[in-house]
Amino acid sequence: MRREVIVVGYGPAAMTTAAILGQHGISTTIINPFPAYQKRLSATRLLALSLSSIDLFKEHKLVENIKSIGQPIKKIYVSQYKKDGLLEFDPTYIQKENFGYMVDEEDLWKSLYFDVKNANNINEIHRNITAIEYKKNKITLKLSNGQNPAADLLIAADGKNSIIRKKLYFEVEKKSYNQVVLICDIKHSKNHHGIAREVFMKNGPFATLPKLGGFSSSVVWTELAESESFLRSLSKPLLREFITSRCGKELGEIELDSNPSLFPLYFTYSKKAIAERIALVGDAWHAIHPLAGQGLNLGLRDIKALNDLIIKEKSIGLDIGNLQILKKYQRARKDDITILISTIDIINNIYKSKLPVIPEVGQFMIRAVSFCRPLKNLFMIYASGKHI
Ligand SMILES: Cc1cc2nc3c(=O)[nH]c(=O)nc-3n(C[C@H](O)[C@H](O)[C@H](O)COP(=O)(O)OP(=O)(O)OC[C@H]3O[C@@H](n4cnc5c(N)ncnc54)[C@H](O)[C@@H]3O)c2cc1C
Repeated sequence: MRREVIVVGYGPAAMTTAAILGQHGISTTIINPFPAYQKRLSATRLLALSLSSIDLFKEHKLVENIKSIGQPIKKIYVSQYKKDGLLEFDPTYIQKENFGYMVDEEDLWKSLYFDVKNANNINEIHRNITAIEYKKNKITLKLSNGQNPAADLLIAADGKNSIIRKKLYFEVEKKSYNQVVLICDIKHSKNHHGIAREVFMKNGPFATLPKLGGFSSSVVWTELAESESFLRSLSKPLLREFITSRCGKELGEIELDSNPSLFPLYFTYSKKAIAERIALVGDAWHAIHPLAGQGLNLGLRDIKALNDLIIKEKSIGLDIGNLQILKKYQRARKDDITILISTIDIINNIYKSKLPVIPEVGQFMIRAVSFCRPLKNLFMIYASGKHI
């Protein structure tokens, strides 16, 4: 079976790239080892989708139900625990109504899967990949059931433990942040008014992200890795107390609305994103700290860059797996990715540091950005993904 593109993966990056290619009449096969239609996500997660991601969906008529599954982000408040000063980001300063939408990862996946099913020319194979081969200007996969699908181009969207990246022996920078993240849903008596709040604590950020409806939010609480067993041992009433004390009075009475999930945070970055007839996108290329809520947004910007090139080259009859095209893709994406990785590292390290002057530095940063309108606008443009 010969197709133009094979997409390996089953997450939001794989679904988005396949749906866009399918819509443009590019025959695409999605390959992963999981049974079709099953819930594949280990923990429900609320994702902040930036304006650039929403624009990508709009451009290709994807996730058209965004207003019924997503909560508009009306403002972002950043502060330091028990310190004066609040950094308020308001989208009207950059002539926007909101910064994007908060969407449950599973609702997003279902919506993208609906788009995949509606596009022509997309089929799915649910099998393990055992080998990659090149034959007659095509890339061919060997699957566990003996099938050998071939294509002009393979897009690896199979997440931070990418099997494709491993089979290519790409050099990967990997480091533990020495932090764990606890996620859980809460209900609250006061309306969140679409405000996302992030408080920098001494061990990592604590965020409440507004969910659709006004009276529920998702908590993303980052702590040092050494606190993992303590966090796991917390009874529900005690967890509720900790969360309430971190939220302050803004959200009123708080109740837990889900069991907490906990997992370690680590960073992976593949130094190469391309090989002959292969391109990595999303977390398969770079998996970053969630403190800025930018991981998937960054991946969707990879997809825009790669898909635009593929669609253009196909329209003029060129080989879409050509290495020159893939080099253009890698070059176009590198700066955006490395700048974001470094910025997140700087912020995380400042607030995690044990040096006594560090809280003051953090405080100074909040005040500096707060009072310098151009700097503040720059942060907001960056958060909306509109800088490229
Ligand atoms: C706590 C937390 C909060 C976050 N919040 C945000 C946010 O607010 N905004 C944001 O933009 N990002 C956020 N992120 C990051 C975001 O979740 C990821 O960047 C995003 O899920 C990456 O999508 P992906 O499709 O590239 O990879 P994944 O979602 O990891 O999907 C990879 C897919 O590949 C499949 N797969 C695995 N092995 C194989 C195989 N052998 N063959 C084929 N397929 C395989 C997996 O099943 C999975 O479906 C957050 C991350 C965390 C941890």
